Amino acid sequence: MTLELQGIGVSRGIAIGKAHILFHNQPDVREYLIPKFSVEQEVDRLQAAIEGARQQLRSIRQHIPANAPTDVASFIDTYLLMLNDSSLTQVPIEMIRSRLCNAEWALQLQRDALINVFNEMDDPYLRTRQDDVDHVVNRIHRILADENVADHEIPDGRLKGHIIIAEDLTPADTVLMQHQEIAAFVTEHGGATSHTTILARSLGIPAIVGIESVRRYIQDNELLIIDGETGTLIAGADDAITAEYQQRQIAFKQHIASLSRYKSQPTQTQDNKAIKLLANAELPEDIKTISNSGAEGIGLYRTEFLYMNRSAPPEEEEQLSAYRDVVESMNNMPVTIRTFDLGADKTVDGGRNLSQTVTNPALGLRAIRLCLNQPNIFRTQLRAILRASAFGKIKIMFPMVSTMQELTQAKLLLESCKQELDNEGLDYDRHIEIGVMIEIPASAVCAEIFAKEVDFLSIGTNDLIQYTLAIDRIDDQVNYLYDPLHPAVLRLIFMTLQAGKHQNIPVSMCGEMASDPRFTRLLLAMGLEIFSMHPNAVLEVKKIINESNLKNLPENTLQILNMSNPFDAEKILDKINNTHRIGL
Ligand code: PEP
Ligand code: MG
Repeated sequence: MTLELQGIGVSRGIAIGKAHILFHNQPDVREYLIPKFSVEQEVDRLQAAIEGARQQLRSIRQHIPANAPTDVASFIDTYLLMLNDSSLTQVPIEMIRSRLCNAEWALQLQRDALINVFNEMDDPYLRTRQDDVDHVVNRIHRILADENVADHEIPDGRLKGHIIIAEDLTPADTVLMQHQEIAAFVTEHGGATSHTTILARSLGIPAIVGIESVRRYIQDNELLIIDGETGTLIAGADDAITAEYQQRQIAFKQHIASLSRYKSQPTQTQDNKAIKLLANAELPEDIKTISNSGAEGIGLYRTEFLYMNRSAPPEEEEQLSAYRDVVESMNNMPVTIRTFDLGADKTVDGGRNLSQTVTNPALGLRAIRLCLNQPNIFRTQLRAILRASAFGKIKIMFPMVSTMQELTQAKLLLESCKQELDNEGLDYDRHIEIGVMIEIPASAVCAEIFAKEVDFLSIGTNDLIQYTLAIDRIDDQVNYLYDPLHPAVLRLIFMTLQAGKHQNIPVSMCGEMASDPRFTRLLLAMGLEIFSMHPNAVLEVKKIINESNLKNLPENTLQILNMSNPFDAEKILDKINNTHRIGL
């Protein structure tokens, strides 16, 4: 029987492959009493489970491919160290003996005690390490529950060609999966602009998020069809349906191949307006794709990957080498490096529990706030970026700036890093450009003020929409409200573009809206001249720009900023897009 499930298509393309289901769930832990004569047996059971967890982690460590992100191994080493610590190995055993309780319960009580210790730490970075405790404890619990631990961390090629079905994937999971050549992924949660989704797009694999309880309906190894554009998952397809999707898969690949002719063309509208297309980079591997994408530089180099899946932040030399590599491989094209935007959906590892300690992580200590709160980690990054600027054209961009004080403090720190480098005789670009991301309504409203103090602005629509419309970008339940065409969003974008014009500084857009071909012509009409997007989208957007004639736009195009009704806004958008046929 054919089963069709619908979610949110977040990364285009058709995949046909076998399902691989991941279970992250925490086992249900309950207390029960152990008769005195069985206590030592219960202790043995716990010790065997701890040993089992050790074996699993050692095996994962051995299978890490050479090209995996740096320090995946040290991430696993941290878990192994924990498994040797008496707070996890001895204390629960004492509890089993003194309370006569089951191993699971003793472990859970000790887990809670350790998490409390972490919660009380002042250092927010160390606070996030409680996720390590949970990872290790969950692993032991699952062994105690005799569950088959689905190790999505095992990068052994076992998942090649499979469609991953998971409750959710963290950015860290997605990073680890990139080497496994998976065909697609489907999750029960997640929004269209969650960081994980963005990573999927950058990996160029089809992805669907928000299919509720999908793991209940799908069997491991069942053959599935995924349409990452419409968000459709089909299981048990008959021959006719499979053949149809095979055709679509071929057509999609041909469409992508046909775009290659735009690579060598300049980006300009038919009425000769030159437009700049830049690429967003998530991972070092993206640089290869970017070089082939036809982009004229990197408009957003996300540095969070450097901090993920490891127990300590990267040192200056490691960062310098990463930034130097990217700027050198871009052959004199500019690279805009964004300082670390950790927090909220971009936690340093699994991060599943961070939100338990902070009620509203998206409104909390993240991005520039975290940078300023952790000046030592921030300074290390600033020094590395500055030093890399001696090897090519680098710009620095601060994320999520909401007040002028933040910008001033960040600039002061940058100045003192420059001073230090001068004293140490280390080279850097003395005229390095500084910009801020406009991704909070307050900063869009005040864009004119910020524009006076920086060299450029970059609009981050993913967060700007989240904060303007008060909808969590990773929550599929409110995804239906995530509307780039909401007049409030469009007005804030327009204000920012105008501020750039008035102050004579460039304004780019690096949020996902810039990569969606449906919005290309509208953004051109609003005055956007620099688009930055994942490299896979560059040629598609270029095709539309090169087919557009700004003079032929419908007369009342900017009326869309006044549309209170989304259907009316869609109608105007259709009119704008149909002025020229936009073929896919
Ligand atoms: C954005 O918010 O639009 C953006 C580009 O930043 P990120 O998606 O990394 O938060
Ligand atoms: Mg953002």
